Amino acid sequence: MSSAHHPAPNGGSPRFRAFTPRDLDALLQRVPLSSDQRLALRAVAAVLPFRTNTYVVDELIDWTAVPDDPIFRLTFPQTGMLPAPDLRRMADLLLRDAPKAEVVRVAHEIRMKLNPHPSGQLDANVPVHEGRRLTGLQHKYPETVLIFPRQGQTCHAYCTYCFRWPQFVGEADLRIATDDIAATTAYLRAHPEVSSALITGGDPLVMSTDVLRRYVEPLLEIDTIRSVRIGTKSLAFWPYRFVSDRDADDLLGLFEQVVASGRHLALMAHVTHPQELRPAVVRQAMRRVRDTGAVIRCQGPLVAGINDSADAWAELWDETTTLGAVPYYQFVERDTGPQGYFGVPLARGHEIFRAAYSRVSGLARTVRGPVMSAMPGKVCVDGVAEVAGEKVFVLHLIQARNPDLVDRPFFAAYDEGATWFTDLKPAFSAEFLPGLEAG
Ligand SMILES: *Cc1c(COP(=O)(O)O)cnc(C)c1O
Ligand code: SF4
Repeated sequence: MSSAHHPAPNGGSPRFRAFTPRDLDALLQRVPLSSDQRLALRAVAAVLPFRTNTYVVDELIDWTAVPDDPIFRLTFPQTGMLPAPDLRRMADLLLRDAPKAEVVRVAHEIRMKLNPHPSGQLDANVPVHEGRRLTGLQHKYPETVLIFPRQGQTCHAYCTYCFRWPQFVGEADLRIATDDIAATTAYLRAHPEVSSALITGGDPLVMSTDVLRRYVEPLLEIDTIRSVRIGTKSLAFWPYRFVSDRDADDLLGLFEQVVASGRHLALMAHVTHPQELRPAVVRQAMRRVRDTGAVIRCQGPLVAGINDSADAWAELWDETTTLGAVPYYQFVERDTGPQGYFGVPLARGHEIFRAAYSRVSGLARTVRGPVMSAMPGKVCVDGVAEVAGEKVFVLHLIQARNPDLVDRPFFAAYDEGATWFTDLKPAFSAEFLPGLEAG
């Protein structure tokens, strides 16, 4: 077993302790803030999810650099995350100690204005099996099915820019979750075109290994499933999961079992900033995961104020590669929640991507981006060009609902301010973005 190669430290794990909005005031005592600023941050946390933990606070955040520290911005509320009038409204309620019911009602109203369910997230990709909608699965691209285990729909900490934020504030997104493993298995058997199963969340690694095993082992009985992926932010938010938690060795044993079955096991690690890869325990976690034969693939969004620089991305991809992991996707922040604050225009995003990409070794140029996970598919911004006198974006679909559209270049009118696919207009006086009229 891999743990023999890289034994866990003797002391076991520090105990996991989450911090919630109730702890926010105490945590912010470390930061010189005016009482107005403090109130504003509490107002944001009344509307959008807030959760962090002892590891993030004690090991990842550089408190001497707060409030600019990228990891502080990754998990702590910032005033710009809400439109100013909404922020003021909520701050006023908190200031005059309004009844809880009123705070909850206003929080709900503000959330509903933040496009909580973009791109048909809830409905568009739900497969049907024998007349039943399997609401804990998403099947958008023929070869890959996403599985959302019911017990994995939270995270060790919450990213301020999270696109699945409604489910963390109890806005009834839990329809995206399953514990019907038999139905999942039946669906996959009935769909031999599915070669890849992606277990995701939330973060499935908040589940104990025993529970995770209930979702993973049945996949190994299906010959047509050739790869298993686990989407996780645990390397960054709780690396002890792989090193010294009570069932860390069990987890690695499960990984070895998947690999021994002849399948590709990919840990799809959500990494936002190179600072997340610095602690020794993360490196140890990555070594232990790699020793099982699993491949670590790193992906994350480009977000303003956290990693919107070529330096951050070049270092991230270099470091990822040095540590034996594979850069995978650089995402564009989705059109939901605090996108107005974290979103980076596509034109600027592509400049950052290109500047970073051109600096790293070919080994790290496995990364694709910037990529929008939009209604028609995964749209990659390839660049900006001038064609027949018109300045255009050049784009292509890496994945598409309609596979015939994959890897065909198409164009959109250049727009310096466009931040999402739906902002794009056709180029060359065409009526539609080519091939996407159905989408
Ligand atoms: C990104 C994504 C996938 C996986 O796509 P790959 O290119 O294989 O990584 C599958 N389903 C959905 C809905 C996705 O957004
Ligand atoms: S890890 Fe993913 S699902 Fe969890 S808070 Fe961050 S972005 Fe959201």
